[in-house]
Parts: sequence; C-alpha cells; structure tokens
Amino acid sequence: MPTQEYHCDRDGPFDIHLTFAEDVPETYPCLTCKEEGRHILRAPACKFEYTWNDQANEARRDPYTQARAQSWNMYNEQRDMGVRLDKPTEESIQGAAAALDHSERHPKPPAPIQQRDFARKNHKNQKTTA
Ligand SMILES: [Zn+2]
Repeated sequence: MPTQEYHCDRDGPFDIHLTFAEDVPETYPCLTCKEEGRHILRAPACKFEYTWNDQANEARRDPYTQARAQSWNMYNEQRDMGVRLDKPTEESIQGAAAALDHSERHPKPPAPIQQRDFARKNHKNQKTTA
C-alpha cells in the first residue's frame, strides 16, 4: 500500500495509508488535532524500483515465473479491454512454462541461406578442380 505524507501546520508531518483504488485527497485531517493537513508529494522510494528489477531478473531466469507473469499480464490486459476470461490456472501456467522451457533449450534454427546457390557453387568448384 502506498503511504501518503501530509503535513499539519501545528503538529508536523503524518503518514496516511491509502489503497490504490482511492484518490489521494489534497488535504487530510491531522491525526492529532483533526485540522486539515496538506498533501506532500514524494518521489517513489528507490526500494520499489530495486524490487521491480529484481523480479524482472527473476522472471528472465525461471520459465515458470516468466510464464506466470505473462499469463497474468495477458489476463489483466484482456480484462482491462473488457474481455471476460478465466483466470490463469496453475495447470495453464505450468503448460506455458514447459513450452517456454522447451523453446529456450531448443531454439529455432536460423532460416536456411540459399542452399541451392551454395550447392551449385560447390558443384562448379568440383568440376574445375577435377
Ligand atoms: Zn495537527
């Protein structure tokens, strides 16, 4: 939960815990004297950023975490667009993780590069050397 900081002219700063759903009010009654305190804007804590990077690294390493994050991202995106769908299940996540794991261990081979031309050149070389 984000903590919002307010400042009372009489009692100084005080913290209020708000949920994401709530709008942050401009003023909030002081916990001590109930006078309206002013909202103080603060930069997001560095710790939050670190945690996010940490999770991203973790997701890159582990196919299961990656698949779970992708499944939930997809679910949330679809839901935001108004699509009603089932929440990702443990089964579907593990299936996606297995697919990811497979594709990581067996990357697709690069597209074949003009094998016909290569074969023809080879043939020509054989003729001249013979
Ligand atoms: Zn106060």
